[in-house]
Amino acid sequence: MQGLLNNKDVQYQDQRVQLMFNRLIRHVDVISPEASQWAWEIHVVDRGIVNAFAVGAGKVMVYRGLIEHLALSEEELAFIVAHEMGHNLRLHMRETLSNIVPIYAVGVGLSQALTPWSSAMVMDYGVSKPMSRTKEVEADRIGLELMTKAGFNPSAAQTTFVKFYAQEEMVRDSQAYLKIIPRSTYLRTHPLSEDRESDVKQQSEKVSNFYASSNKFIPAARPLSDKTSVNTDYIDDYEKLYLIGRIAPETVITRLLHANEDVSFGTDLGYGWMLKRSEQGGLNLHAGLSYFHGDPQIKGNFGGAFTELGWVFNPHWQVYSRFVSAKDMDNSGREKQKLAAGLRWGNFSEGHLYLEAVQGRARFNSSSPWKNNDLLEFGYAFNFGLF
Ligand SMILES: [Zn+2]
Repeated sequence: MQGLLNNKDVQYQDQRVQLMFNRLIRHVDVISPEASQWAWEIHVVDRGIVNAFAVGAGKVMVYRGLIEHLALSEEELAFIVAHEMGHNLRLHMRETLSNIVPIYAVGVGLSQALTPWSSAMVMDYGVSKPMSRTKEVEADRIGLELMTKAGFNPSAAQTTFVKFYAQEEMVRDSQAYLKIIPRSTYLRTHPLSEDRESDVKQQSEKVSNFYASSNKFIPAARPLSDKTSVNTDYIDDYEKLYLIGRIAPETVITRLLHANEDVSFGTDLGYGWMLKRSEQGGLNLHAGLSYFHGDPQIKGNFGGAFTELGWVFNPHWQVYSRFVSAKDMDNSGREKQKLAAGLRWGNFSEGHLYLEAVQGRARFNSSSPWKNNDLLEFGYAFNFGLF
């Protein structure tokens, strides 16, 4: 319905993935005799996130972001797809699904979690940790057996792990300040582990025999994606509308700008829409509630509403304009309106520290004149929603 499957942007990848899948399916009966009768199906989803997952009875999904962010070769992707098939063949989803959906809904967005495909979604290579390590190791072993019998070189399993680690590091490095802060479910609880990597190495002798007697896969000259190395490039360029929520505790530092003023603390709780997204970034609209304790200008506690229109022009920088209308919560006579434009630095796909420089105008009663208002804001924001 959203046009994310097999559309023109992923057609080339999808056709090649279908051929790879067909090679792998020929060997499933060794693992589970009835499985060759299943209605196996695979799709490449036109979304930029790094993930692949399986749902029951032979359905596998691969995200375009997995192929492109990791610059996967076909043999590496064959390992991931075969791993997902391993979960299918061992019916791993049955017992875990009911536990996963709520975790997934919190981590990625309720409305996405409730769409038909993804209601049964396992964020296998992405966000949460849906399966036990035992199941992951089992799926890896089945994946290795399938891929090697289908003629894919098993050394690709190890390079896949290397790429995952590199990508994970890159994501973490892009937010270096966060290393000291416990991270949410995002990537941190990723099911990859060194145990799995070493298990894959230990299996190499067994699977090299399968590979030796297989009908070898010959990789095509043209790679699956234009990306040549692991990257965190902004490649979510298809989505015209998506939702972002933002909770942002902030500290407003005006002392640096006006020697006689104090530091105050505030919180924004907002929900917004990314109206347009392209390789360059996107336009986003936010609205929500704002509370600030000890407003630096008049030492009041204000609560009210804000709206914000911004442009994210790469994953870290945003320009925005913001209108806040709030009432003094201690003294009902006062209100504050602030119209400001600023520059914000952060990582807009997950939790981030941010720093904002704001220049604007404020007035403290609707009848009073607008006055200059420069602020330096510092805070930590959590984003959630569909990315
Ligand atoms: Zn898995």
